[in-house]
Amino acid sequence: MISTVLFDSLSPGPHLLLLGGVHGDENPGMRALAKLLDQLHAGRIRLLRGKVTVAARVNAAAAKRGVHFIEENLNRIVRRHDASATHEQRLANELIPLIDAADAVLDLHGTPAPTRPFVFLDDESPENRAWADKLGADYLLCGWPALYSDGKTVTTTEYAQSRGKRALTVEVGQNDDAACAETGLAFALRSLAHFGLTSAASPVPAPRALRLTRVVYREREGAFARPWKNFDTVNEGEVLARYADGVESTAPGDGVVIMPFEGAEFGSEWFYLAVPA
Ligand SMILES: [Zn+2]
Repeated sequence: MISTVLFDSLSPGPHLLLLGGVHGDENPGMRALAKLLDQLHAGRIRLLRGKVTVAARVNAAAAKRGVHFIEENLNRIVRRHDASATHEQRLANELIPLIDAADAVLDLHGTPAPTRPFVFLDDESPENRAWADKLGADYLLCGWPALYSDGKTVTTTEYAQSRGKRALTVEVGQNDDAACAETGLAFALRSLAHFGLTSAASPVPAPRALRLTRVVYREREGAFARPWKNFDTVNEGEVLARYADGVESTAPGDGVVIMPFEGAEFGSEWFYLAVPA
């Protein structure tokens, strides 16, 4: 069961759903929402209108074990599973009605490597962009759905968007960095303010917008040409990675390396490339 807490102002207004722990090893979102729950329970945050549902540890079983998932990646299968066969398919069936009941969904994630906070802007509507601009993240990443357009994978935000909801996925920071909880808390608080559930938040600098252009999968034994960090810039023709057999992966143009993961399993995402949006 997904454990949720609902805070209702009893005044009409938007219903915001806040998700943490969709991936069980991603502590920043879970810690951020635990802090938010503390503040809501203590009455330090007062809702002026609308309501907020907090699901701080969506995949609680995976979180308990400190693993990404139990059987499969929940954030690729957020759709109805009539004959649910895995732990995550059962969770997806519970998650869907939570999203259906909300007007907007903020899904807080974390990364294995250090990173500046960034937002996936799958839905590029002006309304969603306006929300993303006010979160206080350093970067916006557009173009994720186009890289996975075979229709086989569905993320929380893609499902929410398909149901006409506003939705953002945020990578708050590194999973082991306890300080990221404050960053994630700030994203949640600014979202409450953006939708008018609480009084206005102080302005933040606009994030830098990038568009994902390519996903590169690790096909076999190989290594990065340099220890890439998220948002490192690269030049056209630069060698990005080298397979053990000598085959090189080079940058097709000037751009930015996104979410490099040198130790990815074969067949999994090794890194992405993006350009200014
Ligand atoms: Zn995640």
